[in-house]
Amino acid sequence: MGLTIASSLKFCLQVIGASWFVFPTFVFSVAIPESVDVVVVGAGLAGLTAAKDLLAGGKSVLILEARNRVGGKILNRPLKNGGVTEVGAEFVGPTQDKELGLKTFTTYNEGSNILYRSNSRTEYVSDPPLGVPPVDLLALQQVAAAQAQLDAWAGEINVTAPWMHPKAKDWDNITFAQYIALSAFFPDAKFLLDIVSKTLFAAESKEISLFYVIQYIASAGNETTKGSLSRLTSTPGGSQESRVEGGTGLIPQRLAEKVGLNRIAFNAAVACITKTAAGYEIKSKAGTIKAKKIILALSPPLINKIAFSPALPFARQQLNGLTKMGSIGKGIAVYDSPFWRASKLNAQVISDKGTTRATFDNTPVDASYGALMGFILGDQMRAFDAKSEAEIQTAIVSDYVRYFGDKAAKPTEFIVQRWDLEGFSLGAPVAVAPPRVLSIYGPALRKPVGGIHFAGTETADYWVGYMDGAIRSGQRVAKEILALL
Ligand SMILES: Cc1cc2nc3c(=O)[nH]c(=O)nc-3n(C[C@H](O)[C@H](O)[C@H](O)COP(=O)(O)OP(=O)(O)OC[C@H]3O[C@@H](n4cnc5c(N)ncnc54)[C@H](O)[C@@H]3O)c2cc1C
Repeated sequence: MGLTIASSLKFCLQVIGASWFVFPTFVFSVAIPESVDVVVVGAGLAGLTAAKDLLAGGKSVLILEARNRVGGKILNRPLKNGGVTEVGAEFVGPTQDKELGLKTFTTYNEGSNILYRSNSRTEYVSDPPLGVPPVDLLALQQVAAAQAQLDAWAGEINVTAPWMHPKAKDWDNITFAQYIALSAFFPDAKFLLDIVSKTLFAAESKEISLFYVIQYIASAGNETTKGSLSRLTSTPGGSQESRVEGGTGLIPQRLAEKVGLNRIAFNAAVACITKTAAGYEIKSKAGTIKAKKIILALSPPLINKIAFSPALPFARQQLNGLTKMGSIGKGIAVYDSPFWRASKLNAQVISDKGTTRATFDNTPVDASYGALMGFILGDQMRAFDAKSEAEIQTAIVSDYVRYFGDKAAKPTEFIVQRWDLEGFSLGAPVAVAPPRVLSIYGPALRKPVGGIHFAGTETADYWVGYMDGAIRSGQRVAKEILALL
């Protein structure tokens, strides 16, 4: 589990120099102070939100961020044509209530979707909430019944402690794939629910437990609206409903400005956390600092890369070690115009073949150029982890030609982002749990260990796995600490 003490000490001894950051056009370095009230590990949305709230509460804070940028799994990439594209988080939707402070616009949804199944391409009009792909009617009935059952179970879940549900352990004994095999076994039904697994978790249905899926559905709502599967999967009325003008990358940038760049140390991967008489000593690549409290604003599998003295409790170690990040990438093809719109296509595809099996129109709000975005998910991502970007481009462009015709063959630019290969993410969008993890070790998810508190989207009550959940987790953990300090 994680680093051995010997190897992590070696890493700790490699503590070097100042941290440097380009944000967005100048280089910034932070001197690490001797001590602060709270050290936040990670400058994703969770860590930035927690820092902002703690500062508002009068506490001194330093964020230690491993990368040379803020945002974690949120990232705007500049394009050659002067635009930007989001290679991480992109969409927002109803019941994701946390204020972003930015303008949003509706995800392009005019015209038909495409189903590519058994080597056949069919256009169809998606009818909210789930849309009705033109597949076998009996299979659709099975999917509808499974959806109603999953929603009903999710409706019984207490989102602050899903593991308290009397059936949690039973649900956690089987994979989502086993549930599908029992409840929605017609080939088309299995295809649709497997795609749900891929698109929500970037994981195959055989990799995640049924209980994990149920609690995730429960979290797709807010204090007044229960979570539902269709809110997760839908474009209108669901979590893909809207996009952010200028790209979601602006959200962490704005938050970082509020926190103050002088309170964020970059290139500061934390390697060791040691309990002392007065609090904690935190060793990072950018220097050592003392703090009364620590917030770990990271996905559980990344916490496992930090050496703790004394060790974290067994349940927390198990949670960190047994959950794993989904496998996800994005392939974004840029064109002079969104040519598919003229053919009355909204660019939303589901497919059983190819490298990208779920796509969206990624064009900016002013449609000054066109962009197709395809997710590379689960097994398809892993198959390409070791391939070159050129090979991925060839594979994805050929998918786009199958879906959208010959005009897709010659993008003006092609962007590939592989989150699996990012050492400070290890995959995305969220840490998923196989059977017999969450029902057993779940209570450790938000439980502080001494002065160490846990944030990150995985620890949210609502919108686990999403930006909204990350913000909620940051707010919750700041409150927790302000009540103590
Ligand atoms: C391809 C993709 C698509 C997505 N789509 C959506 C979407 O459409 N809508 C949506 O709401 N969400 C989406 N998400 C999920 C969303 O990005 C995350 O839920 C959210 O950004 C998580 O924020 P966080 O602060 O919890 O974690 P992170 O963003 O992972 O932040 C953790 C930070 O900790 C840092 N770190 C790691 N290890 C260390 C260490 N040892 N020391 C110091 N720092 C460390 C990391 O560099 C990172 O900055 C998507 C994600 C991806 C990748």
